[in-house]
Amino acid sequence: MQHDAALGGFSTRAIRAAGRSPRLAQEPTAVPIYQTATFRAADSTELADVLTNRRPGYAYSRIDNPTAAALAAAVAELEGAAEGFAFGTGMGAIFAALASQLSAGDEVVASNALYGSTRSLIEHELRRFGVTARYVDATDHAAVEAALTPATRVLYVETISNPTIVVADLARLAAIARRHDVALIVDNTFASPYLCRPIEFGADLVVESATKWIAGHSDVLAGIVCGDRERMAAVRALQVDTGGIVAPFSAFLVLRGLTTLAVRMERHAATALALAQYLEARRDVVVRVYYPGLASHPQVEVARRQLRTGGGMLAFDLGSREGGRAFLDALELGERTASLGSVHTIAVHPPSTTHRQLDAAALERAGIAPGLVRMSVGLEDTDDLLADLSRALDAARAAARP
Ligand SMILES: *Cc1c(COP(=O)(O)O)cnc(C)c1O
Repeated sequence: MQHDAALGGFSTRAIRAAGRSPRLAQEPTAVPIYQTATFRAADSTELADVLTNRRPGYAYSRIDNPTAAALAAAVAELEGAAEGFAFGTGMGAIFAALASQLSAGDEVVASNALYGSTRSLIEHELRRFGVTARYVDATDHAAVEAALTPATRVLYVETISNPTIVVADLARLAAIARRHDVALIVDNTFASPYLCRPIEFGADLVVESATKWIAGHSDVLAGIVCGDRERMAAVRALQVDTGGIVAPFSAFLVLRGLTTLAVRMERHAATALALAQYLEARRDVVVRVYYPGLASHPQVEVARRQLRTGGGMLAFDLGSREGGRAFLDALELGERTASLGSVHTIAVHPPSTTHRQLDAAALERAGIAPGLVRMSVGLEDTDDLLADLSRALDAARAAARP
């Protein structure tokens, strides 16, 4: 190819040719992965207007990206929220939700049954910026009310909490939050919008680790914050300033997960109920079962009002640390990994893993028995999971025997 003055040299032509997006007469049925950092403006006025939010559009993918925006809009719609933004991880979303509502001197009142990294974020990071925290039993509404002070700006709870599967009464907590003019932020990760829509119960902001049930296949990390336009304006400003946006390919994978969330959650819940009922019948080794779909659950009335099904998370107490560990080691089908909300059944023994930093007294205060096992029920065949459970329970019984 000779140099052509009109078209430019090879490099110029290659860059132009390879950067020309196809003009489509038909819309694709799947949202495309807009793997681009920048978007071309027609002129300098358009670029300035887009960058300053005077007209809709895209300029730079840290500020917004069409694949990320499609994910955020889809989850916001399913949560019943006016607006949503998608983040690179659940923790990125939680940081943005908290930091957008808090300033130095403010207080956050949080449930003492909290995801470990959320507690660490509050204690290790927010505290350095002058935010203080108090922790309460979120099912004790008098204690929640008593913990709120004029400096409290945020009440933070999880719909279903880790690892003891406590169900928070969101309508009651929202009423308390409104009375004291504080924002109720709800982490809906263990439930997913299929089980529960916290906005409908009065939550101001909802956060999700989309890494879990929404994406559902343990192959991507993402987070979402949803809420009303005013609060989301602050969340968005923080997202742009801190660079928390989800990557386009990750957003694509989460969107794909979202399309099958309902059918997956129905199957996860049906299998979880069967396992919970089996565990409850194994009185020879199981001391207690915690599953919102069982009549024995401490907040069964709240669960019936608030959750579509019992969901895919359950926990049970095998009576001793040895029993819990032996159960984990004997599993053949269940995966020993730290996450949840996947096609695989995943089991953890919190006292020796996620909550290993807590001593016996602290474990007791958090309601975590030494033999507690938490299970995220996958999509394997129920009979295979029951057989695995039966084998592992026998191992736990043998290990617990003096
Ligand atoms: C996993 C999880 C998070 C954090 O999400 P990441 O995507 O891992 O950052 C927050 N809250 C709950 C309840 C979780 O299970």
